[in-house]
Amino acid sequence: MKFKDPQETHCASCGVESAIPVRDLLALTAHCPSCHASFSEIGLSMRRTVDEVSAGVKAITIIMHVEEQLGVTFPDEPFEAVCDGNELTLDDLAAAVRQSVSSDIHPLVHQAILTAMRTKFPDAPDKLDFNAPLPDALSQPRKYGNY
Ligand SMILES: [Zn+2]
Repeated sequence: MKFKDPQETHCASCGVESAIPVRDLLALTAHCPSCHASFSEIGLSMRRTVDEVSAGVKAITIIMHVEEQLGVTFPDEPFEAVCDGNELTLDDLAAAVRQSVSSDIHPLVHQAILTAMRTKFPDAPDKLDFNAPLPDALSQPRKYGNY
């Protein structure tokens, strides 16, 4: 995820446009240079964008690796739904995969996702939380420095 840096930022309080460093916005330390209103709301909404985009890309990376392992090709529909949201969890991914494969493959799905995580995201925590939103499942603590 790349933001234009500095980010053209519109102040909701005084209406002034200013160029604000992305790092300050994401750190929630940015203020309007004109009226000193906090830009933390803007930073929070940028954080959500970062999470959504990176969660979607990571979900697709995991799915493609699971396809390779199981020797199947998933239809797009179930995944468009799950890749859409910031709250996507590994459990959601597993459920979407199970919807798309025959039931004799179902017992392999969990392990295939684990293998995909270990292969593609070796930095993920040892104990994977299948119920946490993907950005949290992949990295703890969350990092916002590498946008
Ligand atoms: Zn202002």
